[in-house]
Amino acid sequence: MSDARPANAPRKPPATDPPSNFIRSAIDTDLAAGRYTPRRWAGHPDLAAAHRGGPPDVARIRTRFPPEPNGYLHIGHAKSICLNFGLARDYDGRCHLRFDDTNPVKEEQEYVDSIVDAVRWLGFDWQDGREDNLYYASDYFDLLFAFAEALVRAGHAYVDSQSADEIRANRGTLTEPGRDSRFRDRPPEESLALLREMREGKHPEGSHVLRAKIDMTSPNVNLRDPVLYRIRFADHHRTGDRWCVYPMYDYAHPISDALENITHSICTLEFEDHRPLYDWLLERLADGGFFDRPLPQQIEFARLNLTYTLTSKRKLQELVTSGVVEGWDDPRMPTLVGLRRRGYTPEAIQLFCERIGVAKADSWIEMSALEQALRDDLDPKAARATAVLDPLRLVLTDFPADAVETCNAPVHPQQPERGVRVLPFTRELWIERDDFTETPPKGFFRLFPGNRVRLRFAYVIECTGCDKDADGRVTAVHARVLLDSRSGTPGADQYKVKGNIHWLSARDALEVEVRLYERLFQHAHPDAGGRDYREALNADSRRIVRAFVEPGLAAAEPEQRFQFERHGYFVADRRDSMAGRPVFNRSVTLRDSWGAGKTG
Ligand code: ATP
Ligand code: MG
Repeated sequence: MSDARPANAPRKPPATDPPSNFIRSAIDTDLAAGRYTPRRWAGHPDLAAAHRGGPPDVARIRTRFPPEPNGYLHIGHAKSICLNFGLARDYDGRCHLRFDDTNPVKEEQEYVDSIVDAVRWLGFDWQDGREDNLYYASDYFDLLFAFAEALVRAGHAYVDSQSADEIRANRGTLTEPGRDSRFRDRPPEESLALLREMREGKHPEGSHVLRAKIDMTSPNVNLRDPVLYRIRFADHHRTGDRWCVYPMYDYAHPISDALENITHSICTLEFEDHRPLYDWLLERLADGGFFDRPLPQQIEFARLNLTYTLTSKRKLQELVTSGVVEGWDDPRMPTLVGLRRRGYTPEAIQLFCERIGVAKADSWIEMSALEQALRDDLDPKAARATAVLDPLRLVLTDFPADAVETCNAPVHPQQPERGVRVLPFTRELWIERDDFTETPPKGFFRLFPGNRVRLRFAYVIECTGCDKDADGRVTAVHARVLLDSRSGTPGADQYKVKGNIHWLSARDALEVEVRLYERLFQHAHPDAGGRDYREALNADSRRIVRAFVEPGLAAAEPEQRFQFERHGYFVADRRDSMAGRPVFNRSVTLRDSWGAGKTG
């Protein structure tokens, strides 16, 4: 810690108008042209015939957040949530929460529940007026299958009976066209019969797939007769064993969007090359009368990459299963449950997402931007408190042993209306070990023999010496009190001292567990260049200390946040705190101390 501790910078006012970006421009253009005005809404996802019978859609736009329930949401998902729900809010639209649960193998109810919680916690809602827009792609399985049959009948899809190896071999490469399957010109009736047998469980996994009939020579490999359905004898977390054929993401996604009247289907850049397939499918189904135009449009944006962490559910899952972290909600995890336990507020995460905006090209965002958003959010909110994290005993040798004075410290220095905290002042105090040294380096203004400092909100003291153990380690510091220097009394400022340190009454302080968290990785790009990210782990990402806090913190509620003066922002752990015995997690230090030289 350094001696100069400037007052916290005031929080920048939040942008009143969200900054424009290419997605907002596209929406503005669509709305100005009245592109989506003719839409009607049946009140629930359905075919065009049903929507036509409904009233005009009150939602000027419809967006959706479509997580796959195969893990916990992370900060990258928060960007997508803030974007989709934020657009709906700003444009008088609706945002649907849709579980993209078409892959039976990896999905679980636990994840569904955690996603519902996370979106709510972030401050967004899919219930709006009389609408409750929470959907499951698996609820569309019947329709998806019916559309598949229709595509086969219309000659737009066929059952391919090549082996998986043959399909791969015939797909071609980025530079070579693919080759048509020998089953490509199978008569529609034959494909239809096979498709139904697939559904009835008459064929083993891998024996047949349903493919779109587009163009095996397309330069875009996504258009080389993509697979629409495959056989999987797997139980689904919602439909059980009712199905043994499951739709592919590229097939289910555009159709789910169209059924839900989505106008702008916003996804990450890796789907840019899938957009022609998205459009191809919806155009074919619109031709078939299942959907009305205008159809939903896919718009891509750059995913969030954050330094010093990972934003891949699979890798985060590995950190959990390998025991590197204690669970999905470990405070070092970039999951929303982890960030929440770390002490992040929903507002800080929203502020961060606002500040980073959306871009059309991939890039890395600095972890310090996320941390700064938390500081900026907490500075005006968090009550101040005193904590001594590395305690050293200070004995005020001329102060009576049984005397107790009370000192008042503001709950918030810029908000006097929030009142004061009462700090008992006694002969024996705790101070930070590094606020004392026997041999001060140049520029050290805190305690050393002969030097004077102010104990914040109390007296100026003069150091008179220290005790040491057999190893030479300092066990106590001695000082005398300048009794006419008490803060807030006349003449208190006659003593000009350069150091101002915090303290706690040893008799009254509450001993607590404090968990000092650092970044989980020591390299900015943990998995860059194919590096095994486990090699980039920061071995000191968590340090647990026994510390002292002011007595009033015995009443801290789980998730209550504080600024421990001179240290940073801390939160009472929502899991491990007990009545009267809070456990504190360090959310973020007061200033960015992750110095240069540690980047990788
Ligand atoms: P992961 O690779 O971590 O598993 P995902 O894309 O497979 O992520 P989904 O559940 O499919 O996870 O994501 C739901 C939505 O969140 C998608 O629209 C996806 O584009 C978006 N999303 C996921 N990761 C990010 C990210 N890092 N930045 C922005 N949006 C993201
Ligand atoms: Mg995905």
